Amino acid sequence: MSLRLHSKYGVNPTIPVCFVCGKPKNEVVLLGAGYKEEAPMHLCIDKEPCEECKRLASKGVMLVEVQDNTDKENPYKTGKIIVVKEEAYKHIFNTEVPPKRIAFIEETALKKIMGDKYGTEIKETK
Ligand SMILES: [Zn+2]
Repeated sequence: MSLRLHSKYGVNPTIPVCFVCGKPKNEVVLLGAGYKEEAPMHLCIDKEPCEECKRLASKGVMLVEVQDNTDKENPYKTGKIIVVKEEAYKHIFNTEVPPKRIAFIEETALKKIMGDKYGTEIKETK
C-alpha cells in the first residue's frame, strides 16, 4: 500500500498507543493524507494489544479498569490492570474467558470483586 502524502503535513507520523494499556508502542505509523488534520503525537489506531499486554494476557486474563459509565467504544482507562488466572476469572464472572483474554471492567465492579485487596499492589505471579 502506498502512502498519499498530506498536502500540509507530508507523511504525517504518529506513535500508535495500545488500546488496552494506553502506552505508546515501539513503532511509528505514517498517516499521510489518511488523517485530515496534523496527526497527534499519540493516537490509538487499532485494537491490537501491545507486546507487554500480549505477554500479560498469556499469563491469565487481563482485567482492565475503566471509569464507570464510560464510552464502550473508546473506554476511559484508569491505568489499573490486574491479571487473574483463567480459573479465577471463570469463578468470579461465571462466564467463559474472552477470546483475547482481555476484559474491560468498571471501577465500581472491580472494587466489589477485589474487596479489601483493592488499591493494594498486586504482584504478578509467575
Ligand atoms: Zn498495552
